[in-house]
Amino acid sequence: ISFEDLKLNRQLLNAIEEAGYSEPTPIQQEGIPMILAGHDVLGIAQTGTGKTAAFVLPLLMKLKYPQGDHVRGLILAPTRELVLQTGAVIEALAKYTGLRYVCLFGGIGPTAQIDGIRKGVDVIVSTPGRFMDLYLKNEIVVKQLNTLVLDEADKMMDMGFMPQIRRILEVIPRKRQNLLFSATFPEKVERLSAEFLEYPSRIEI
Ligand code: AMP
Repeated sequence: ISFEDLKLNRQLLNAIEEAGYSEPTPIQQEGIPMILAGHDVLGIAQTGTGKTAAFVLPLLMKLKYPQGDHVRGLILAPTRELVLQTGAVIEALAKYTGLRYVCLFGGIGPTAQIDGIRKGVDVIVSTPGRFMDLYLKNEIVVKQLNTLVLDEADKMMDMGFMPQIRRILEVIPRKRQNLLFSATFPEKVERLSAEFLEYPSRIEI
């Protein structure tokens, strides 16, 4: 099956071609239709499988074009490196959509990140701590948020982010699509997915 078969729009297909992806990887073939159908998804997949594009492409497809100023898609990741890597994938794949994204992480002053958010944003990629920080400073309006992705959930649990993730779940709209990706599936990730996902479709690569 090809990217054309996955019912992605022309803007995304053009960006995919320019990124040099000739055909979807297994997790993309299986995951993109599930996510486009609106299901919560549990994906067990390592880095290198194309998992990032597997959730970024349907997210961009769902958001379609810039709309209002408030974030609609939130991707939480454990580290600054993963946030930036995911941002780079969005940069490449969103280039013809006009969709706006910002990357948020700690360890640096928030001024540039706040400026980015204030310009209007469709997608935020963030570590849990910095997201909560800027939310509590009233810099992030979550009322339009309709899709939440937890990436590298096992690593987030290992790094002790569960309390912060719980607080984020408490303040964002309840009605939303949830996607959880993890390289491994230990008991603590199983508990997180039970708490966080509703009737999830499961993919294991
Ligand atoms: P990830 O598993 O998301 O860390 O992606 C691993 C690498 O595969 C990244 O460098 C992507 O740019 C690349 N990639 C993702 N999807 C495809 C695809 N369908 N064809 C070729 N490369 C891809």
